[in-house]
Amino acid sequence: MYLEKLRLDGRVALITGGSGGIGLACGQALAEAGAHVVVADLDATRAAVGVDAIAASGGAASGVVLDVTRSDSVRDAVAAVHAAHRQIDILVCNAGIVISEVAAESLGDEDWMRQIDVNLNGVFRCCRETGRIMLEQGRGVIVNIGSMAGSIVVRPQQQAAYNASKAGVHQLTKSLAAEWAARGVRVNAVAPTYIETPLTRFGMAKPALYDQWLADTPMHRVGQPHEIASVVHFLASDAASLMTGSIVYADGGYTIW
Ligand code: NDP
Repeated sequence: MYLEKLRLDGRVALITGGSGGIGLACGQALAEAGAHVVVADLDATRAAVGVDAIAASGGAASGVVLDVTRSDSVRDAVAAVHAAHRQIDILVCNAGIVISEVAAESLGDEDWMRQIDVNLNGVFRCCRETGRIMLEQGRGVIVNIGSMAGSIVVRPQQQAAYNASKAGVHQLTKSLAAEWAARGVRVNAVAPTYIETPLTRFGMAKPALYDQWLADTPMHRVGQPHEIASVVHFLASDAASLMTGSIVYADGGYTIW
């Protein structure tokens, strides 16, 4: 009974920024559990990379082009997925960017806006479009990728816009969960520590940053994408049927201190 709750057979999962890093690991996890995964990324070639990787491990996947900063792109992509499958059961809002090591007093409008637009507005756009379909279905699960930086300020790098955008993702997650809980749609977020992906390369290559990251982490290590994907898989499954509005920390203990 308990392992059965983790199966996702017959479900359709849409993952933004699903062609690499954490997003691809999420796709692989959900596909292994039986879901059809739709890899959404900025262009078709990138999406195809994710689709091929999932197919290579025996999963079912297809691709769609989606730019989370454009409402029309999100609307078209969600409509295309719905037209193809007649259902969307799982949404993982994973697309995100960081422009780090910039002091707040030097941060220009463009870099502030860009991070808020991809990381926060993008999550809202995707949740709104997919949420409408899920509410109509009377069922659905959304997992947003937040960050431990959404509730604490990481150090030593300065990245006020990223931190603020992820705090927004956490609060948006709770707000949507409250609005949609009684209508069959669960909304949760995962808040990872540093995960080894292209996004963290800037810091892992610099001892001044990386040593501080490890010193601040009780487990004294960064995480791997699969360690976030397994939490996303749990939240997306019926094993988490009572969970909504939760921000689940997968942070090696970072936020303990
Ligand atoms: P990656 O850079 O590997 O992946 C980010 C993905 O988002 C890429 O596929 C990228 O596409 C895509 N993307 C960027 N902008 C857009 C857009 N406008 N529309 C659609 N897709 C877009 O980073 P991670 O895997 O590390 O990050 C995934 C998520 O996890 C992000 O939200 C990040 O903030 C969060 N996170 C990551 C942590 C880490 O330490 N790595 C820690 C905490 C949270 P492309 O490659 O084509 O640009």
